[in-house]
Amino acid sequence: MKTFRYQRPDDPEAAVTALASVPGARFLGGGTNLVDLMKLGVECPDLLVDVGRLPHGSVEPTESGGLRIGAAVSNSALAAEPTVRDRYPVLCQALLSGASPQLRNAATVGGNLLQRTRCLYFQDVSKPCNKHDPGSGCPAIEGVHRDLAILGASEHCIATNPSDMAVALAALDAEVLLRGPSGARRLPVTELHRLPGDQPERDTVLEHGELITHVELGPVRPTVRSAYRKARDRASYSFAIGSVAALLEVAEGTVRQVRLALGAVAAKPWRARTAEEQLLGAPATVESFSSAVEAELAAAEPLRDNAFKVPLVRNMAVRTLLELAGGAFADWEEDQW
Ligand SMILES: Cc1cc2nc3c(=O)[nH]c(=O)nc-3n(C[C@H](O)[C@H](O)[C@H](O)COP(=O)(O)OP(=O)(O)OC[C@H]3O[C@@H](n4cnc5c(N)ncnc54)[C@H](O)[C@@H]3O)c2cc1C
Repeated sequence: MKTFRYQRPDDPEAAVTALASVPGARFLGGGTNLVDLMKLGVECPDLLVDVGRLPHGSVEPTESGGLRIGAAVSNSALAAEPTVRDRYPVLCQALLSGASPQLRNAATVGGNLLQRTRCLYFQDVSKPCNKHDPGSGCPAIEGVHRDLAILGASEHCIATNPSDMAVALAALDAEVLLRGPSGARRLPVTELHRLPGDQPERDTVLEHGELITHVELGPVRPTVRSAYRKARDRASYSFAIGSVAALLEVAEGTVRQVRLALGAVAAKPWRARTAEEQLLGAPATVESFSSAVEAELAAAEPLRDNAFKVPLVRNMAVRTLLELAGGAFADWEEDQW
């Protein structure tokens, strides 16, 4: 076993300083992903800086009518928060679809956002993988890739981001508040994760030492409906093979506002901006929803064993939008494609 040091500061500045000064250091949230990866030898930190005593454990209303969520809030506590249940059902549903109650009690908002891919090659240090050993290759492209990316992948990596919560946060236009060695900044959550390109070892745009302190949500009008839908191999305790987070506002049969994000299809939550642009101002009908989602998925480049994800995600997205528009399923057959 590799030895490592452990610190548990109660001041964010001290946490950032401690981490930034050690190249191989990592922040520790609930440890439900990091500790597993340490046992597998994928992560070998010299120092763990536990964020559990930092003052980031609460959910507060913001002046603009949104919510500021501390990065150390557990996934269970956030899902149980009355405002989240009432005003952000897409987030509540995404959180509750993830992992198991025990894991959600330990897992934190910051850790959930930064959990690493479940690609089998990444988790097995005896195999080549450009993410854990840059330059060694990506055997998943020819090998086991049923669960991996259909959008935004590269010849160097086809891993997917496994977080359910991040997909909901992408659809909600959430922002991530950061504190790092060079000061504080905020980022849209859609800009936090990276597509692999030729640097798949970098999951995010964060610099070493940057701490997630909060996630901020803007207000959502009561006329906007939202939902998260997840397809998985087991009914519970299983990662998504495809998921959809959607917000929709329809007035007099016309789409007034729509935000759509797809999960388990790329290295980041996939905000479906092409579909959104096509839908804004369009009639809220099965034809509009189908055509917009088809336009989004025209960019898909599935591999030998994951082409099923294209119709899967397409059907889920259309069904979710129909549900939010008022449940007009009668004239829609999923097998029409
Ligand atoms: C069996 C199993 C099933 C699961 N199923 C699902 C599922 O269906 N859906 C799903 O979404 N997830 C699932 N998960 C993953 C789970 O949600 C994550 O492990 C969890 O959310 C990670 O949170 P954590 O606080 O434990 O993070 P940790 O393991 O502590 O940390 C994860 C990463 O985040 C970094 N980090 C933590 N906090 C901060 C911070 N404040 N600032 C900067 N960096 C930070 C750490 O350095 C580390 O790199 C599953 C996990 C397991 C073990």
